[in-house]
Amino acid sequence: MSKKNRKPPWHQYFLIAMAILLSLLMVVSRAYRASRRAGIAHSETTAVFEQAVSGVPDTEERSEIYEPMYPLPEKLALLGHIDPVSDDGFTLIDRRYANRQGMYMRSEAYDAFLQMHKAAQSDGINLIILSATRPFDHQKRIWEDKWFGRRVLYGNILATDIDDLAERAREILRFSAMPGTSRHHWGTDIDLNSLDNSYFASGEGKAVYDWLIKNAAGFGFCQPYTAHGDNREGGYEEEKWHWSYQPISSVFLKAYEDMVDYGDITGFAGWEMASELDVISRYVLDISQSCY
Ligand SMILES: [Zn+2]
Repeated sequence: MSKKNRKPPWHQYFLIAMAILLSLLMVVSRAYRASRRAGIAHSETTAVFEQAVSGVPDTEERSEIYEPMYPLPEKLALLGHIDPVSDDGFTLIDRRYANRQGMYMRSEAYDAFLQMHKAAQSDGINLIILSATRPFDHQKRIWEDKWFGRRVLYGNILATDIDDLAERAREILRFSAMPGTSRHHWGTDIDLNSLDNSYFASGEGKAVYDWLIKNAAGFGFCQPYTAHGDNREGGYEEEKWHWSYQPISSVFLKAYEDMVDYGDITGFAGWEMASELDVISRYVLDISQSCY
């Protein structure tokens, strides 16, 4: 063998150097985004509490309907152990704004929704609530119906077709939260008009979504599950229908991060997968910056 053959050609060294450089760049960029996310989460929460103390909005975007002086929730409320029917903090949603009777929202969030609904209507947009507050047992029903194959995941795929339990949980988690980890427990989050992203892609649905993107923030509402990308690395799939009343839900989110750990997420089939899949950081906390 000649010397030339034993020595790798120069472009192999070049490729290795480029690969190392690329990996370094990826590590630095991930660290930057993580630190930026932590910084934003911290500064916005701080702003909410500073505003609560001073009573004066710190930015012009905060409208007078914002109610930042929301008391810190108890851990049980964060986990969905609530009864909106008997709890004074909740209001029954009028049937004319919803597709069925019997749904509840936290009263401040509902007031903000009513203002948003009115503004939308004057622009020819009809907002209809399909789902609002869901206590733990309600979420447990949804989760276990999927877990035990009583309800399809999508198409004709059943979770029971998936033997690996972590993989089974991951598939359900594309669109459904584990009991104890759903934002619907908080009374601040609602699903609007259609549970299908394609509805919002054209015609009437597109008009609804365009209106929300332009105006919802003015009433305190944000979209937590935006498309995966720069803003959000993973977590649930995009949900154009899910909107959250940020002045309260941001306080709940921070409280969740501080108070809840994996010992609290239990009481349903597959709960053991919560820590294995790290659902708190990968799902609960992986939301759009606009909701922090
Ligand atoms: Zn939802």
